[in-house]
Amino acid sequence: MKQNLVAEQRVMEEVKKAIAEGIDIDPAGIKAESSLMKDLGAESLDFLDINYRLEQTFGIKMARRTVIDHMEELFGEESAIDAEGKLTGKAAEVLGMRYDGYSAHIRAGMDMDELPVMVTVASIAEGVTSLLDTLPENCENCGAKNWALQEETLIACGGCGEPAAFTSGDDLIEEWLKQIQESKKIF
Ligand SMILES: [Zn+2]
Repeated sequence: MKQNLVAEQRVMEEVKKAIAEGIDIDPAGIKAESSLMKDLGAESLDFLDINYRLEQTFGIKMARRTVIDHMEELFGEESAIDAEGKLTGKAAEVLGMRYDGYSAHIRAGMDMDELPVMVTVASIAEGVTSLLDTLPENCENCGAKNWALQEETLIACGGCGEPAAFTSGDDLIEEWLKQIQESKKIF
């Protein structure tokens, strides 16, 4: 369900902080639309660091694998990236739906190396928000419907104190892809 304990603005602040600490840059230079790799100089390993910080801050599990990885797993090898390392038309269609704001950049035949450039501060914040919005109605431990904030960004049960069990990033991507496939029959 859509949670309302952690405000979107707070998510954005924490994402900027995690990025600043993860890449070791001045937070003042980080904008919502900044591309982590292109504008902020992030390298692949920095993403692990940033994800880890966000997991600690919000009690969530960020996706370990990309949407591309999940498409290949669900719909078969070369369903997303062809033998030449280019994005397939079907994968471009799916990514276009997922990354609405960047769909102008996403096209069939683009090199897979270009894809990480599209990860922005805003897209990470959206990812965190979507995970927080998997908050269950009731506590899985005691059944209470009484979520409360712990340490400003961690949602826990006001009854038994158990941290909220959010859907993991990888499970959320998989669920989303299955829904898309069900309704649009792309693959
Ligand atoms: Zn509880």
